[in-house]
Amino acid sequence: MSNIINDVLDFTKENDVKFIKLSFCDIFGSQKNICITSEELPRAFKHGISFDASALKGFMNVEESDLFLFPDPTTLSILPWRPEQGRVVRLFCDIKHPDKTPFEGDGRHILKKAIKKANDMGYVCKIGPECEFYLFELNEKGYPTKIPHDFAGYFDLGPFDRGENVRREICVALDEMGIIPESSHHEQGPGQNEIDFKYSNALDAADNLITFKSIVKSVANRHGLFASFMPKPILDKSGSGLHVNISLFKNGINIFDKEIKESYGIAQSFMAGILAHIDEITAFLNPLTNSYYRLGYFEAPKYITWSCQNRSQLIRIPAAKGIYSRMELRSPDPCCNPYIAFALIINAGLDGIKNNLKLTNPCNLNLYAASFEELKDIASLPTNLRDALQKAKESNFVKSVLPPNTLKKYIDYKDQEFEAYLYASNKETIEEKLYFQ
Ligand code: GLN
Ligand code: MG
Ligand code: MG
Ligand code: MG
Repeated sequence: MSNIINDVLDFTKENDVKFIKLSFCDIFGSQKNICITSEELPRAFKHGISFDASALKGFMNVEESDLFLFPDPTTLSILPWRPEQGRVVRLFCDIKHPDKTPFEGDGRHILKKAIKKANDMGYVCKIGPECEFYLFELNEKGYPTKIPHDFAGYFDLGPFDRGENVRREICVALDEMGIIPESSHHEQGPGQNEIDFKYSNALDAADNLITFKSIVKSVANRHGLFASFMPKPILDKSGSGLHVNISLFKNGINIFDKEIKESYGIAQSFMAGILAHIDEITAFLNPLTNSYYRLGYFEAPKYITWSCQNRSQLIRIPAAKGIYSRMELRSPDPCCNPYIAFALIINAGLDGIKNNLKLTNPCNLNLYAASFEELKDIASLPTNLRDALQKAKESNFVKSVLPPNTLKKYIDYKDQEFEAYLYASNKETIEEKLYFQ
């Protein structure tokens, strides 16, 4: 067995680890897990742990339902909110067929392929997500209400801001789980918060985001609150976005660094690739009917444009220098499957580089205040889930990134979701279900 596997096995013995959560995501990015005892861990590394893949959304059919979870030993984290004696640790898993070949529909596998493609072209991609969420009160039965935890706004202080203790505990837990928290603040909406953690390679960034979401949910719950990642939980207030900051390194140099003229042109083609494919991949970056109520309001983008400092645009180039130079894609929301979303974004950018796409001129309008005349020639993102799915169905680009079964299952489920929403007599009930996201 490899050294790193032995290290994990030693760690579990030395730290009184009793339970191991083997974790992974379904195609919609919902985290799933099975708990095994530490005695079973050597077997899990060697032979995998089988599960019924037909019972999970978008994986396999009943006729061919066995898949195996193989823990990735580099992802070991203690779950700090579980007891100290008889500890619980978490490992993310790779999903394989019985013959040990990778399961094509596994998001981690799809993202690893995108990372390899970038590496083969000479690039290392770094991603730093910024995730927003709302804190809501629970009712006397312990169920979530739509009453925000406070009525504070952007960057407000306590005691008006009542989220600071929750954010503090989230940051401590992130640290304990090996994710470096960088900043946290109250966001614009009542009860809305944001916590940013350090950028990393794309696979770690997706794993970290999944870890982050479960930390937020657990800590909120301990405070008697409900954390929601729904993109637009309160219709007339700020939505929750998942801004994706991306940089690309070639031979150790960040090509988003504007000072280095020769390579900045490649970064521009990367952005042009994302702008060219954004409408085809929106169904994956904004996966809920609810997602489309966010776009176009409260600093969430609507048009397919870019600019430097302007926050009404789809792509913004923040004022940052050297290794921190990057682009920020502002349309994704926290309900996306980050593995699939990052894979599509990376591939779109690489496609721009391969085809030497030229970046259009920046759009320096405030798009929220612009006139009809100014906006009439500017392309916009799909305005509802059905249109976004239609673009995905017609896209050869999406077909080139996602395996046919996964794509078909994703689209079929989402079509049904849209229909259910469209024909529901009580749309509140449907929204209610989504609200648990
Ligand atoms: N909440 C906004 C969004 O949906 C972002 C606003 C901000 O980060 N200040 O994207
Ligand atoms: Mg931010
Ligand atoms: Mg924000
Ligand atoms: Mg941002």
